Amino acid sequence: METTITATWQVVEDYQRLFVNRRAYTMQSMRPCPESGRHYYFRPNKKGSDIPLMLTDETIRQHLEGKITVGLYAINPSTQRCKWVAIDADYKNSMEDLLKLQYHLTQDRVDPALEMSKRGGHLWIFLATPLLARECRIYIHDLALRLGVPVKGTGLADGIEVFPKHDAICAGEFGNAIRGPLGIHRGANRRFWFYGADYTLEDQIAYLNRLRKVTEEELRRFIAGKDRPAAVASLAQLRDSLPQRRQRSGGSDFRILAHVGGGRKVGRNYITRCPSCADSGHDRVGDNLAILIEDPRFYKCWAGCTKEMIRAALGCPIRVRSSA
Ligand SMILES: [Zn+2]
Repeated sequence: METTITATWQVVEDYQRLFVNRRAYTMQSMRPCPESGRHYYFRPNKKGSDIPLMLTDETIRQHLEGKITVGLYAINPSTQRCKWVAIDADYKNSMEDLLKLQYHLTQDRVDPALEMSKRGGHLWIFLATPLLARECRIYIHDLALRLGVPVKGTGLADGIEVFPKHDAICAGEFGNAIRGPLGIHRGANRRFWFYGADYTLEDQIAYLNRLRKVTEEELRRFIAGKDRPAAVASLAQLRDSLPQRRQRSGGSDFRILAHVGGGRKVGRNYITRCPSCADSGHDRVGDNLAILIEDPRFYKCWAGCTKEMIRAALGCPIRVRSSA
């Protein structure tokens, strides 16, 4: 057990300014799930009701003092903007990829902060003013593609995860939350710090305050002329990076093209409407889903739908193999 840490109101206020972009939040359960042993996140309600709790200074203080652990949402649905971009990498050799990204971000004069995590780390980029999630995502996805850094959700289990995970979300939607930095990770039962400063709340926050923040003008310059086709080209890149595998016997009989048809060809991909987006009335233009022509096992929704969501929308949910 660590010694008691006190969060000053200044630290709480700075934390709010840096990290909190909307009041909805998640909480990590204090006790592990009996079956999986994992500490899941849930959206907390007022006691004995289904009225969701909203983040307050007090919630943040408790998080920083290690009494609770909160998860933060990237996108504010009223603006579709975020205050930060976080790159989560927790696979084998993920630190190598994070350092590669960090180095190249620095070349753009972006000043990211590397946070330790249970396995790998989180790379945080702070924005001078809230910026459009879509534009942030184009920047990071394009960078990952150029560096050969795998992005999760493209048919491979391993790769970086970029928060925000969506270009935009509807009112009443939340997107994905990430563990709020500087709190206690319940699974690891310890605090993870940023590498760049001494391990006290004051020093850590002062360090984050000092980091150069990305402006809208800079971001627009970084992504000028770049758009989805570049980002979805990563499907081919991922396919090519894979060792040739023999056809697995059993299991993967799912053929996405039998469900969604070809759509139009753009580079090495078919581009068509994402069935999961379509279910919620999105992707009317019909260009969110990219399917690798030469190997349709690889497909990706640019808006961030997971493989599970796409399969469920097609009425062919991915069956979880039960462990005996
Ligand atoms: Zn989708």
